[in-house]
Amino acid sequence: MTGNQSIGKALYEAHAAYKEKSLQKRRFKHADILPLINKLRSTEAEVNLLGQSVEGRDIFEVSLGQGGKNIMLWTQMHGDEPTSTMAVFDMILFLQSGDVEFAELRGLILSQLRLSFIPMLNPDGVERFQRRNAMEIDLNRDAIQLACPESRILKAAHQKNKPVFGFNLHDQSKYYNVPETNHTATHSFLAPAYNYAKDINETRRSAMQGIALMQEVLDVLHPNHTGRYNDDFEPRAFGDNIQLWGTSTILVEAGGMQNDSEKQEIRRMHFAILLTLLYNIATDSVGEYSVDKYWAIPENDRKLNDLIVRNVHIPSLDTSIDISINHYEREDDSSLGFYLEGQIEDVGDLSTFFGYSEFDAQNLHYRRAEVFPEILSELSALEALDFDALLLQGIGVVRVKDIQLKQNFERIPLLMVESNDEADWGLKPENRCAFFLEDVKGIKFAIINGKLHDLDT
Ligand SMILES: [Zn+2]
Repeated sequence: MTGNQSIGKALYEAHAAYKEKSLQKRRFKHADILPLINKLRSTEAEVNLLGQSVEGRDIFEVSLGQGGKNIMLWTQMHGDEPTSTMAVFDMILFLQSGDVEFAELRGLILSQLRLSFIPMLNPDGVERFQRRNAMEIDLNRDAIQLACPESRILKAAHQKNKPVFGFNLHDQSKYYNVPETNHTATHSFLAPAYNYAKDINETRRSAMQGIALMQEVLDVLHPNHTGRYNDDFEPRAFGDNIQLWGTSTILVEAGGMQNDSEKQEIRRMHFAILLTLLYNIATDSVGEYSVDKYWAIPENDRKLNDLIVRNVHIPSLDTSIDISINHYEREDDSSLGFYLEGQIEDVGDLSTFFGYSEFDAQNLHYRRAEVFPEILSELSALEALDFDALLLQGIGVVRVKDIQLKQNFERIPLLMVESNDEADWGLKPENRCAFFLEDVKGIKFAIINGKLHDLDT
């Protein structure tokens, strides 16, 4: 292991001790970070109110360190991209800790750097768990026009701080993969271009070197799960402009990871790689890295699905095809804030795609789900159904009326559809998902709402 790999690994191992424990799931709100910000006021940290969002939510800057090199990190410019907000609060806890294990590293960071964290730049988007702000504008296309107060706040903070490094912290779709593999692109990086020619000046080169360093750490923590973002110049984006304004700007995207739907493991890796890089900025060591390591990161692809059922024989066509299905989060008022709805993504030859899970339906035939004959309006009647018996008869859909559909959707192993809903579940992209796999002896599997049920056992 290299020195930085050892540091990154040690930080990763130690993360639990510094984890901000009030943030454990992705859908926290502005109200959840206010107490954390308030607590920081009574510490060494300097807390500045930078301004308000469209709907009047406060946007803060938390500054730490006494050094001469300014660094700026901003998170959740897109409201539904929370991973780095969690990681940033962990980093602040780490930097404020008095633990001896990392005293030297911490001391160097705080003596050489002046760190400015802007956690949750788009609190109105967070409230809706959506990308855009309350004006329905994508802040990352508003760096020039500055139509939104949140954009003006970020630009003003940049002009005030004049950081040498800027960290533009986002989440990307969990369906990104490392090309030609089923590996999730758990992290993606970009040193954004600052012109159409994609020139590389000193500013951008340093950003690439910083990414090379973080990738070296990820080679140990989570090898072969990083993608490089396309570097086409986007003249309206903040990353591209902040690079142009002379700050080495690094885009970090938190993608998906098997068995980490709440992104707690990715948050942990963020904590480790970002702190390792900050330490190297503090010690002036980033320049030792080769940009070749940056270019060696394969460019992101987007070929993942939640489930792929392969080689399904379609009797009416007498041919076999693949079916891909994604599970989309739909808003509700449960403790999780969402339920999952399965949707057919694509049908046909999906040999170039990969699934978080895959099932080979060789020698099994497709059978469309039939609808339960009655419309049910009592939850108790719905719950009293013999689900396994119905599924074995080929009934996979139930029409309901006056039943809280969202709250029960994932709990009931039939596809629930409102009685007045024209929903279709035939094999067609964007349709809902309810079908069976059978052989000559009968039904073997049900795929209802995107989940595979083995009826054979
Ligand atoms: Zn984003």
